[in-house]
Amino acid sequence: MCAPKVVVAETAGFCFGVKRAVKMAYDAAKGEGPVFTLGPLIHNPQVVDSLREKGIEVTSSVEEIPEGAVVVIRSHGVPVDVLERLQENDIRIVDATCPFVKRAQQIVRSLAEEGFSVVIFGDKKHPEVKALVSYGMGRASIYPEIPNDKVKIGVVSQTTQLLEKFLQAVKEIIDKCPFSELRVHNTVCQSTAERQKECRQIAREADVVIVVGGKNSANTKKLVDIARSMGKETHHIEVASELSPSWFLGKRVIGITAGASTPDWIISEVVEEVRRMTGGVVNGRQSG
Ligand code: SF4
Repeated sequence: MCAPKVVVAETAGFCFGVKRAVKMAYDAAKGEGPVFTLGPLIHNPQVVDSLREKGIEVTSSVEEIPEGAVVVIRSHGVPVDVLERLQENDIRIVDATCPFVKRAQQIVRSLAEEGFSVVIFGDKKHPEVKALVSYGMGRASIYPEIPNDKVKIGVVSQTTQLLEKFLQAVKEIIDKCPFSELRVHNTVCQSTAERQKECRQIAREADVVIVVGGKNSANTKKLVDIARSMGKETHHIEVASELSPSWFLGKRVIGITAGASTPDWIISEVVEEVRRMTGGVVNGRQSG
């Protein structure tokens, strides 16, 4: 029987914002004083462990960070009041907020300053959305909640939402508020959409799909859902040692993708192990 084809997603792994935040954290660890992150820097336990080995601790509150320490703000950003408390407590800030998230924060702020009520399309429990609300200075709400003052409405999206869903929400707001002045800013980041599109393409072609990434990573779980919703046998793993040879018996095409918080070294290990187990020929990203 001929060797299976192994198709590895070109979009697999760190997005620009995550890559930048991880680099800034490692750079911070080379300097003076203890280094903290407010919440895990990214949703990947292996990377968080590796950061800890370099002396970067995860904390959940500003109060736990000693004076003079360094705090790395993760790519989602933090609410305005958290930023102010860090500044008051004489903590050195390494701001790794993704520039795309920062742009969304600035748009929310300027809409509020111009007297717009701001509707944010996103997951209300997500830290990025909580931070965006804070930039609205009391004038922001989270979709589907639409403010009572419907004269001027600004609409923005959490960066990782899908553009089609954002446009659907905008249409609903137009229908509900036909007499409002509506100002819509597309703050959706292309990185998520591209990753999901490629996952669909791979799932279409593959007999089995391996999704690599943190079990607590929302964007990784979304890739698992996409592949499963297409009826494909799909396995969500964090590391290569979770792979089982039985998954590949009789398979002709094996698809591999990974979430935005999965580092390249873990993806390469998985690709290498799949190749070792199956003798497969890797198409796309080369392992090692
Ligand atoms: S998904 Fe986009 S907005 Fe979010 S961190 Fe990555 S690059 Fe930045």
